[in-house]
Amino acid sequence: QARRLEGIDKNVWVEFVKLAATYSTVNLGQGFPDFPPPDFLKEAFVRALTGENHMLHQYTRAFGHPPLVKILAQYFGKLLGQDLDPMTNVMVTVGAYQALFCCFQAFVDEGDEVIIIEPFFDCYEPMVKMAGGMPVFVPLRPKAPKDGKLMSSADWQLDPAELASKFSERTKAIVLNSPNNPLGKVFSRGELELIADLCVKHDVLCISDEVYEWLVYDGKEHIRIASLQGMWDRTVIIGSAGKTFSATGWKVGWTMGPNRLLQHLRTVHQNSVYHCATVAQEAVAQGFQRELELYGKPESYFIQLPKELQQKRDWLVQSLDAVGMKPIVPEGTYFLVADISEFKSDVPDVADSDEPYDSRFAKWMVKNKGLAAIPLSAFYCGAHKNNYNHFIRFCFAKEEATLKAANDILQKWK
Ligand code: PMP
Ligand code: GLN
Repeated sequence: QARRLEGIDKNVWVEFVKLAATYSTVNLGQGFPDFPPPDFLKEAFVRALTGENHMLHQYTRAFGHPPLVKILAQYFGKLLGQDLDPMTNVMVTVGAYQALFCCFQAFVDEGDEVIIIEPFFDCYEPMVKMAGGMPVFVPLRPKAPKDGKLMSSADWQLDPAELASKFSERTKAIVLNSPNNPLGKVFSRGELELIADLCVKHDVLCISDEVYEWLVYDGKEHIRIASLQGMWDRTVIIGSAGKTFSATGWKVGWTMGPNRLLQHLRTVHQNSVYHCATVAQEAVAQGFQRELELYGKPESYFIQLPKELQQKRDWLVQSLDAVGMKPIVPEGTYFLVADISEFKSDVPDVADSDEPYDSRFAKWMVKNKGLAAIPLSAFYCGAHKNNYNHFIRFCFAKEEATLKAANDILQKWK
């Protein structure tokens, strides 16, 4: 085994996907919709697959199928207020996962530090380590909500002084994930400006994981850090068609940024996967073409999807609140974190176990109640796993029937 693999062999998805497949009747664990992608997207895939252009079954351009990089450049150029060159400012990847992997491989040297905001999407830590880097963690700290109100993901905040203290001459990059998985926090302009100012001051890159960019609720706005002063030139934006079009299995993702950074991502990409499935890229290109035509209109999927998900969020918030599994109301994403403290008597604590309590709770819940969720500790580094160990994360990108079935389990339980 190569040294770079030491200590990174465990994976929460491998473990919990298997548990859910074995025991769950209602799976609110791993994040994926159980409803289909929109018809226009499926139809585009079928057209690409069965149409006359049989070249769509062959290799395409390494750094992105031309129709896809062109439409991405057009669409996001509009959002960013920035002229994007499809060939040098955009690169298509095998999901956002590979985009992240390319970033760490491209920019992180032995001993470089990468700042990660906790709780974080779990793969950032092992990917930084695999590149030889040192993850440096800074927590979002919860503030008590106003009396009688449910906690919101907005109550989880960075301490500005603490964040500033993590930047040093060894810092190569910070990973930002807004809207954040698992809390659903949507970073405010003020918070983003704080991060941006520190990046500029210390000449640090920003890897901006924006896979949940469309999923923001209650009229909140997703602000792209690359659009802030001094940030375009030091930011790599990461997106995912899996989240954008509810088709996580297609594994189409992308990166965007200045050529001075993207050129190094291309080097990693051409020497690893080379390119991702042509047919899927063609269909995603057509999906974006449609969205560009319907930009800002009520029929736009990017307007309809968050509307539907906000309602699903509200249902799940209600069911959890009714049984005393206090939800933290998310401002974005399709995840919701809930407090299991009042359910502790069902799963007694084992004082000498190394495994965080929430993880044992989630395993007990799927085995005994058939309901799958993910322990929040999975989104903390090893040293901090016990700091917040009485929360579990639910995914609410689910059909009404699935959410009802979850509600039935919860009601019967309490
Ligand atoms: N980043 C975040 C924050 C995620 O939640 C996920 C999981 N979907 C990914 C990246 C990976 O995305 P993809 O499925 O497109 O590889
Ligand atoms: N991003 C999804 C989640 O957080 C799925 C991740 C995965 O399957 N590796 O649940």
